[in-house]
Amino acid sequence: MTLFLDVNALSTLVKTQGCESFMQGLLGYMEQDFSRWPEFDKSARTAAHSDVGVIELMPIADHINYGFKFVNGHPSNPTHGLSTVMAFGALADVATGYPRLVCEMTISTALRTAVTSVMAAKALANSNPSSMGLIGCGAQSEFQAVAFHKILGIKELRIFDIDSAAMDKLANHLLAYPELTVIAASSAKECVKGADIVTTVTADKAYATILTPDMVEPGMHINGVGGDCPGKTELHIDVLRAGKIFVEHEPQTRVEGDIQQLPAEHKVNALWEVIAGKAQGRDSQDQITIFDSVGFALEDLAVLRYVYDLATELKMGETIELVPQMANPKDLFGLMKTIG
Ligand code: NAD
Repeated sequence: MTLFLDVNALSTLVKTQGCESFMQGLLGYMEQDFSRWPEFDKSARTAAHSDVGVIELMPIADHINYGFKFVNGHPSNPTHGLSTVMAFGALADVATGYPRLVCEMTISTALRTAVTSVMAAKALANSNPSSMGLIGCGAQSEFQAVAFHKILGIKELRIFDIDSAAMDKLANHLLAYPELTVIAASSAKECVKGADIVTTVTADKAYATILTPDMVEPGMHINGVGGDCPGKTELHIDVLRAGKIFVEHEPQTRVEGDIQQLPAEHKVNALWEVIAGKAQGRDSQDQITIFDSVGFALEDLAVLRYVYDLATELKMGETIELVPQMANPKDLFGLMKTIG
């Protein structure tokens, strides 16, 4: 039987474990998987683009686990009452092909994206960061804010969005974290002024310039999350030229990330090498570091593995007969006759 977790079951699992504890546990799985990066069979995701968005398939495997995610990105969806990003995925056993888990991945994606951001910032930002500017207060924003507050120790968060209702929504949710000071900024520039870390998590299918060179200060770490598709960027090209850039899977990020604006010969650095202790992150306190996040399949495999282990341990989710269980596996026709 295959374990199945829908949106309700996944939310219950996260609530039972506690959001912060869930993120901490996931960070462990994520760092473990990034540290053994060469063991994975990796490919850039397959994308089906339209004028208004993209639908992507993200597969990855090692010698034990195979995982994939279906995910979309439609920035104009909220105007029709739909989410910008929605996802589901599966985890299978490489030895047999047997599907062990089918899972909702909209919430899981928000959790894993925030945890990936924190993993990168932990490796690249100056030590003991205390303030963050967060531009973009949509569906992903609370997850980013909570992960940076609870795991990295961010104490002051300045927020900005062109939609004031989205800013209010984020600020209201963050009232549950009284040790986090939340300040609503009146512009993107005010939002990032003096911040140790800047997170951009906006959605617009355009070459946007959320962050311009005049807004960037020495020593800042930039966590660019929303530029993740051809023709969809957030960082001005001169911001990219000013920093040391780190990426997930370079062939995918060259096409989808903010670095799509740069020539192919512009050097970028592999995040996994820093996580694995094989390469240095920042070179000096004053250096600007940039994580050009697009979201890679390995992060989804880490969350699928973690959800499977946790749900099994806590006996949560339901089991479904997704593939046939037969006394004689050659008699598929006979199985049909016994049903109904
Ligand atoms: P969302 O539509 O819920 O929120 C996006 C927010 O950005 C909205 O509130 C919108 O008003 C705001 N915004 C748009 N343009 C802006 C601007 N110029 N200045 C300030 N705010 C602006 O989307 P979401 O689900 O929160 O996703 C945010 C982005 O993150 C999307 O682009 C999505 O594709 C991306 N994403 C990346 C990853 C990754 O792994 N890198 C994972 C998930 C989502």
